[in-house]
Amino acid sequence: MIALENVRKVYSGEVVALDDVSLTIAAGSLVAIVGPSGSGKSTLLHLIGALDVPTSGTVSIDGRDIAGLSDTGLSRLRATTIGFVFQQFHLAPGMSALDNVADGLLYAGVALSERRRLAAEALVRVGLEHRLSHRPHQLSGGERQRVAIARAVLGDPPLILADEPTGNLDSVSGAAVMGLLHDLHGAGTTVVVITHDRDIAASLPRQVSMLDGRLT
Ligand code: ADP
Ligand code: MG
Repeated sequence: MIALENVRKVYSGEVVALDDVSLTIAAGSLVAIVGPSGSGKSTLLHLIGALDVPTSGTVSIDGRDIAGLSDTGLSRLRATTIGFVFQQFHLAPGMSALDNVADGLLYAGVALSERRRLAAEALVRVGLEHRLSHRPHQLSGGERQRVAIARAVLGDPPLILADEPTGNLDSVSGAAVMGLLHDLHGAGTTVVVITHDRDIAASLPRQVSMLDGRLT
């Protein structure tokens, strides 16, 4: 699903965020990327998510070298292959849970009525069938992250990337979110979870450790 070879990422010509990173993640895996703040985890996730390109080296997602894709091609790859979950949830403030999730397929060319139908199904799957019309400020942190997961899984992408998905949650809500990610893995989705929490990392089948832009 993911292959990085000798990847280097330098910001502003001077900050070496990733230094000679090579990593293979097989389809269907559940992997933790763990390391302290500033070690390069989010940078790695942005490359795996085709949100950015490496300074040198190659990044292949689902068999495609992202360097060979146009902006449109990168957008299409993200829209069809990857679901994102972020620590800060990234939900639109004035919109219902249903419409926040329905927006997940905005760039996949699916009509609004169909997107809303799928969004309602996805919210049922994460246990939020009673919160469809709530706006983000009317939801708890754990519920907001479940809305974000519902949005990420809309359209059944084969790859889910989660950057510190439990970072803003209490331990009970965090465990519920990790449970959902385990369920997705059980259903065959490739799941990559970034965390600085060693206990969460240890609960996943594979851990990739980072320090100072390198895999350790
Ligand atoms: P982590 O997610 O592990 O905390 P990051 O990947 O966010 O680490 O950052 C790795 C390093 O790259 C840090 O030193 C950070 O300050 C730097 N960095 C991240 N993004 C940028 C950017 N857009 N411009 C310049 N430096 C950046
Ligand atoms: Mg980070």
